Amino acid sequence: MSQSIPAAQLRTQIANILHMAGSEHAEAEQVAANLVMANLSGHDSHGVGMVPRYVDAVLEGGLSPNTGVKVRLDTGPLLNLDGQRGYGQITGVQAMQMGIERAKQHGVCTVALSRSHHLGRIGHFAEMAVAQGLVSVHFVNVLSRPVVAPFGGGDGRFGTNPCCIGVPMGSRPPFVLDFATSRVAQGKMRVAYNKGEEVPNGYLIDEKGHPTNKPGVVVVPQSNGLFGALMTFGEHKGFGMAMACELLGGALTGGGTWHREADDQRAVLNGMLTMIIDPVRLGTQDSFEKEALAFEDWLRQSPNAPGSEGVLMAGEPERKARADRELHGIWIDDTTWAEIQDAEAKLKNRH
Ligand code: NAD
Repeated sequence: MSQSIPAAQLRTQIANILHMAGSEHAEAEQVAANLVMANLSGHDSHGVGMVPRYVDAVLEGGLSPNTGVKVRLDTGPLLNLDGQRGYGQITGVQAMQMGIERAKQHGVCTVALSRSHHLGRIGHFAEMAVAQGLVSVHFVNVLSRPVVAPFGGGDGRFGTNPCCIGVPMGSRPPFVLDFATSRVAQGKMRVAYNKGEEVPNGYLIDEKGHPTNKPGVVVVPQSNGLFGALMTFGEHKGFGMAMACELLGGALTGGGTWHREADDQRAVLNGMLTMIIDPVRLGTQDSFEKEALAFEDWLRQSPNAPGSEGVLMAGEPERKARADRELHGIWIDDTTWAEIQDAEAKLKNRH
């Protein structure tokens, strides 16, 4: 039955499953903590509901437990890292730790991370940088069944390619803009489908290219075996951003772009190009902070639009969700919970 689970309990349960799937305890705990943090942040699409897919990917050999990044090139301000199909929750953190260290040393660092398994919520990495007073920009591509249609196209050709920008705001909470370039994240369609909900106009096309409100078109094969597709946000502009993510996160990192028919592999590989900037080393720290805060104040003075609760800064909805879910627990729907239990049973039956 649907249930609200305290974050600590969920972390332990998920870590146990990941340990059964072959991860050493420390890795299992780190991946579980990252997934639960996505749930806490309000992004159930990138939370513990991913575990069944991760388990399948491990069993298929597409995801390698206990595997960190391999350094291909390290010039200081340039890092080229191979994620070697390890958990993105591990390789992404390693890439950021290395990039942050070098950005502090050189003022900037560009980190190309390729062949990482699913990196989860990209905002997690921006939060690492802003916590150190650094700006970070991330372009990510997704190598998995292509679920997003190009603007003007009638079928899925690429992934939900997220983009993220983190900006520290002095003593105030940071600006963390973290979004899929699809109108909505694919995982949110899985969540909506599992809950039996329809989605608003403009999110989806069906397998024939017609608009639809049924999230199932991108979750389960349709009558002719084909899938529908998500649309990009902002029409041609979102499509342009999605393509930039593929070019930078995929082609430039060395991880590769998607240009083939869909397969049914469960692994999801991400490429991520990250640029980290130290405002102190740039020499603008004082004016940067002053201007950033003045702009935030200015925005917050805008009168509420009719029916709106007022202006929010990117990162704020996630912080509000965390405060609420830390207190009241994380709500897991029946289907998601059943899938997690099936994944656990699959691992038990393997031995
Ligand atoms: P979303 O639409 O919920 O939010 C996107 C951003 O908008 C966030 O920064 C949020 O703080 C901000 N925001 C939300 N409401 C706001 C408001 N009223 N005013 C101002 N700002 C507001 O996010 P999404 O596009 O569904 O993406 C969800 C998550 O999925 C992200 O964490 C993303 O990194 C992740 N993702 C990961 C992959 C992958 O392959 N690893 C792929 C796609 C998406």
